Amino acid sequence: MPDLLIAEDIATVPSIKTEELPESETRTDVVVIGAGPTGLACAIEAQKLGLKVVVVDKGCLVNSLFHYPPGMTFFTTPELLEIGDIPFTTALQKPTREEALEYYRKVSEHYHLDVRQYEWVKTVVGEDDKFLITATDRAGRAHDYRTRKVIVSTGYYDLFNQLGIPGEDLPKVSHYYAEAHPYYDSDVLVIGGKNSAAIAALDLWRHGARVTLVYRGTQLHHHVKYWIKPDLENRIKNSEIEAYFNSTAQEIGVDYVVIHTPRGPRRLKNDFVLALIGYHPDYDFLRSMGIELSPEQHRPVCDPITLESNVPGIYVAGVIVAGSRTNEIFIENGRFHGKQIAEDLRRKFQSSS
Ligand code: NAP
Repeated sequence: MPDLLIAEDIATVPSIKTEELPESETRTDVVVIGAGPTGLACAIEAQKLGLKVVVVDKGCLVNSLFHYPPGMTFFTTPELLEIGDIPFTTALQKPTREEALEYYRKVSEHYHLDVRQYEWVKTVVGEDDKFLITATDRAGRAHDYRTRKVIVSTGYYDLFNQLGIPGEDLPKVSHYYAEAHPYYDSDVLVIGGKNSAAIAALDLWRHGARVTLVYRGTQLHHHVKYWIKPDLENRIKNSEIEAYFNSTAQEIGVDYVVIHTPRGPRRLKNDFVLALIGYHPDYDFLRSMGIELSPEQHRPVCDPITLESNVPGIYVAGVIVAGSRTNEIFIENGRFHGKQIAEDLRRKFQSSS
């Protein structure tokens, strides 16, 4: 069975007619919530079926990638980030954040995707073939979308995991790391033992910060990339970076932190805390649409083939499919969700014509 509709099939796909509507209301076949690589891939595949598709995002195009550290190099090679069968070529073996931003802008432009940036979806109500989505823009204006199907690809980078300790809400605490300069000549505690924490600890040390790493594991996690791990291990061995394993942060004060170590509590002088302890999908938003989540891992209940959730007409795509197991789905595999969903959309729109 071919992946995409041929021209004859497209003619049979019924599309909602855009009649005279109030300015704030858009009628469409599919609304994709989230303009990350997976959302864009879903939009492209649905659009290839001849469907009218609108992508809505509360931030800019590929907002999460935009918020990655400037100059960041991806771990992966460019072909694994490709969507819509558009080649992604890069100057070096692995793409930078800037090259990826450029790529996804070009892909969006190439497919003439209708992306509504800076609109925050607040509610999704209705039922299959008759959903009403309300989004709010930066000026607080409401925008309504009437749509037959909904694809949710909201990612996970906006919601950071929390330590749940006193002082976590102090302004000196951040759950994101961008660049080292603001931390120069400062005492910085980095919490976490995987890639973000390892990269930040090394980068901070190289740019003149005094770095302490605290990790609850016995040693750096084996998921830390092979070209990063020995570098950090050697910095720790040379006492250039202080590291506490089997340890946790207990309290954050204005100019100190208290950590719990196997040798008892330690109070350390501290200017900044970087809690690089991962992120999670917006479970409340998923539940608000009626999507059921599995009890422990918060995986949305969905058909593994079509990715249609327990709510008929609402599909899930990208990392949210894995619930709290955010290390299972990346751009590299989430980008294929678009084709899975489009295959089901094709069947459904054909059978309703
Ligand atoms: P992550 O892989 O989810 O790791 C989170 C770390 O925080 C883990 O070590 C975890 O401990 C620890 N942690 C979680 N909750 C905690 C808590 N309540 N208290 C203390 N520690 C806690 O997050 P990440 O390192 O930010 O990576 C996220 C994703 O981005 C990954 O897929 C990663 O590969 C990717 N990444 C890519 C690049 C790149 O392409 N250049 C750079 C950085 C990261 P445990 O180990 O015990 O679970």
